[in-house]
Amino acid sequence: MEGKALAERIRAEVAAEVAQLGNLGLATLLVGDDLASAIYIRLKHAAADEVGIASTDLRLPVETSEQELLDHVAELNADEAVDGILVQLPLPAHIDEARVVRAIDPIKDVDGSHPLNAGQLYLGRPTLVPATPIGILTLLDEYEIPLEGAKAVVVGRSNIVGKPVAQLLLQRNATVTVCHSRTADLARETSSADVLVVAAGRTALVTAGMVKAGAAVIDVGINRTDAGLVGDVDPGAMEIAAFMTPVPGGVGPMTIACLLQNAVRAARFRRGALAFPAA
Ligand code: NAP
Repeated sequence: MEGKALAERIRAEVAAEVAQLGNLGLATLLVGDDLASAIYIRLKHAAADEVGIASTDLRLPVETSEQELLDHVAELNADEAVDGILVQLPLPAHIDEARVVRAIDPIKDVDGSHPLNAGQLYLGRPTLVPATPIGILTLLDEYEIPLEGAKAVVVGRSNIVGKPVAQLLLQRNATVTVCHSRTADLARETSSADVLVVAAGRTALVTAGMVKAGAAVIDVGINRTDAGLVGDVDPGAMEIAAFMTPVPGGVGPMTIACLLQNAVRAARFRRGALAFPAA
């Protein structure tokens, strides 16, 4: 399941929508000098530029206080030219991440992390949903993977991938199991999955023998190894699965494309073209 070409198509669609909507602004906040975070921010800005979204790249030193960061968020909330705000996680340990996320105006929360947006998803009335789970569902739909009645297993329960993708699969009438580090017998769960989403950040956590023949496997993991970037699923599983995403070139490009889609969605909410629930 190739994410690259599909992501390119989505970006072209977003570019057309941006041209129609007029000025659209995305602001990112990065605290500290984490290398991986800096790479993600650079990719997001390059993608935003390409589709005509004006992006602001705020970089703050690692010693930035929580209050200083909250002040920046408040400024961006009030800035009429900003449709979407993204605070790159993780934040340094002295900053309360949940508090910062709560401070973002939910209508500008393009990461879908604010409790209001997370709650809307849980209630089955999604507003702004994290980009990676949307990208995963878009890939499954592109390859026409049946979800209704399918047994879906999600490995990982983070707020940004595991939990929201489980909710989206549930909404599509899959029967969903969520696994995590305390799951008693991971292989038993994964080997029963028609649709397997793995987002744990552990190289080769899922081996070929843990995959059901004919399954659709989405490997979300990004692990830096001496051999380069690898996922959480042994590539040998491609021989067993009917569909599987490569790493890199699978979910990664979809995440960026769906973030841009979220920026357009946030702009539509702000301009009243879509109704946003009152807080
Ligand atoms: P995270 O917050 O670290 O969560 C990892 C999850 O995996 C946790 O729920 C953890 O369980 C579970 N886990 C860890 N070891 C496990 C094991 N041995 N067996 C079963 N479950 C295990 O990670 P994340 O932010 O969701 O990201 C997961 C991976 O996806 C990372 O490699 C990240 O780089 C990648 N990622 C990729 C994209 C993309 O666009 N391709 C986007 C986001 C993330 P507990 O809850 O019990 O600790």
